[in-house]
Amino acid sequence: MPYPPYFTEEHDKLRASIRRFIEKEVRPFALEWEERGEFPRSVVRRMGELGFLGLRYPVEVGGQGGDYFSALVLSEEMARTGAGGFSMGIAVQTDMATPPILQFGSDWQKQEFLRPAILGEKLACIGITEPNHGSDVAGIETRAVRDGDDWVIRGSKLYITNGPRADFITLVTRTSDEPGYKGISLFLVELDRPGVSVSRKLDKVGMRSSDTAELVFDDVRVPARNLLGVEGKGFYQIMWELQGERMIAAAGAIGAAQYAYELAKDYAKTRRAFGKPIANFQVMAHLLAEMATEIEACRQMTYAIAYRFGQGEVPSKEISMAKLATAQLAFWVADRAMQVFGGNGYMADYPIEQIWRDTRLNRIGAGTDEIMKEIIWKEMDGRY
Ligand SMILES: Cc1cc2nc3c(=O)[nH]c(=O)nc-3n(C[C@H](O)[C@H](O)[C@H](O)COP(=O)(O)OP(=O)(O)OC[C@H]3O[C@@H](n4cnc5c(N)ncnc54)[C@H](O)[C@@H]3O)c2cc1C
Repeated sequence: MPYPPYFTEEHDKLRASIRRFIEKEVRPFALEWEERGEFPRSVVRRMGELGFLGLRYPVEVGGQGGDYFSALVLSEEMARTGAGGFSMGIAVQTDMATPPILQFGSDWQKQEFLRPAILGEKLACIGITEPNHGSDVAGIETRAVRDGDDWVIRGSKLYITNGPRADFITLVTRTSDEPGYKGISLFLVELDRPGVSVSRKLDKVGMRSSDTAELVFDDVRVPARNLLGVEGKGFYQIMWELQGERMIAAAGAIGAAQYAYELAKDYAKTRRAFGKPIANFQVMAHLLAEMATEIEACRQMTYAIAYRFGQGEVPSKEISMAKLATAQLAFWVADRAMQVFGGNGYMADYPIEQIWRDTRLNRIGAGTDEIMKEIIWKEMDGRY
């Protein structure tokens, strides 16, 4: 169903084709991927062949040339895979590790990293977080030192989605001794370079079909052409990236909430207690009505902000608001959906427990709830 003014019939066709792909080529295998702790590389290649990894990227770099709402369609639909970790791994590929290459990259970097990522030939990851610095991005310690025509990188990055198997990383480093946000620069680093190692593959509460690593960079030498964007401007560049990351996280959270709500509604209509469907108890019906209302409120907010983002604006306060509201919404709806399912909701045989585990991450990843509130407050007032 078109959702004017944001979605057109073209978007609906895209939505239908992504949903078909998920039903045929993802959901039947989701449990296996969840148990294995990773999705196969072949599904990334398949998504590349289908054009799903470059929906909003220009044709010149291998993309489909679509608008920002085509990326939102993908993100919403990917919430229905039954494997949130897979959806997250794909979001890292399409909306986190690669947008800075289009925005700040050289022609060589676009051909070498962006195009193969869009085609599904290379798997990407992004390295911001470190063992001692997560929310405090300006505090990162991974150091790149200039040595002739090369840079030599030393440090480590934690919780890196796709990290154990990625072909390259969009890496945040410090390139001068200046503290804080000054002297931060981005690099594109091939992960088969000598000195790169996966020190740990991490176990997690949810998002289990995504593999997460701690990556160590032990004097990794990269040529100067791997510097992404402007030396010393990496903090601004990664803050720009985080806006897109939060925007797409908001869309994914809406998708997850909608899916959990639909599952709960269907269940409530068929599950019987005291001789009638549980949906016929007013408390259940009202809970479902409340879930639908909260989802719609967050959806309208997210679409309105995504529209501005798609037009080239970067309204960081509103993006943070959407990220915060939708992260809380998704987990709130998943939790209520689990309640509607009763004991079955807690069982691995039913899809709700996986959505419940996966959506918990929304309140932490891409900037925590607290950091979103911090940004919102600072942009509104700037003082305590
Ligand atoms: C499954 C998973 C996948 C991830 N994937 C990636 C990835 O691919 N790449 C990547 O770079 N990172 C990734 N992350 C890291 C994620 O972005 C960070 O976990 C997140 O930004 C929080 O950082 P932290 O874990 O270091 O928490 P901390 O910064 O240590 O925060 C701990 C607590 O303190 C609070 N806090 C911190 N500062 C403030 C403040 N100023 N005011 C109020 N409260 C504050 C936080 O909100 C939080 O509640 C991933 C994380 C997870 C769990």
